[in-house]
Amino acid sequence: MVEAAAETTLGLKYSMAHFYVADNGELADPPRWLKQSQEKLAKIQQRLNRMQPGSKNYEEAVQKYRLLHEHIANQRRDFIHKESSRIANGWDAVCVRADALDEMARNVPRGNALNSGYGAFRECLRYKLARQGKQLIVVNRYVLTTRTCSVCGFVQDSVSYRRRIWSCPKCGAAHNREVNAARNIKAQGLAQYFNRQELRESA
Ligand SMILES: [Zn+2]
Repeated sequence: MVEAAAETTLGLKYSMAHFYVADNGELADPPRWLKQSQEKLAKIQQRLNRMQPGSKNYEEAVQKYRLLHEHIANQRRDFIHKESSRIANGWDAVCVRADALDEMARNVPRGNALNSGYGAFRECLRYKLARQGKQLIVVNRYVLTTRTCSVCGFVQDSVSYRRRIWSCPKCGAAHNREVNAARNIKAQGLAQYFNRQELRESA
């Protein structure tokens, strides 16, 4: 088993806009082509709504829609595999939060094409890490990762999801909302990990 240490552990926060944001500020911007494909798909869908079902044009548009849909699924799969391999190879442990992804997806009726891919990404990451004797550390979803200052631990009543940057009223630290959350996920994950180590050693 590969031991986790702070310097070799990555904290990841699920992000609507960037797919994920890491505690070191790294983010996986969904590739531009994915967004473009999705916009094209939406256009075909609109055209289909105006067409006469059964007509030759309609059948052609349906065919186009199916092919593009499949193409997007392939692109997404490819992206997920590459990203999870890169992270699993580069880090000794990864901390994520056990977000209820299906619940979150329901709140975003027309989210980006990768929203539905985060669960698959997490699973890919888990088995790619495990293959190398490394761990995916899952943090409880009720831990307040967004509202807690990762510098001093002060917990705010709320942090607006519209604000990318906020500063801690107690210590004055300026935070990028998502990076701060990723740092808290990492800190919490490592605390869990070291607690378990201690239990094992004292047993
Ligand atoms: Zn603070």
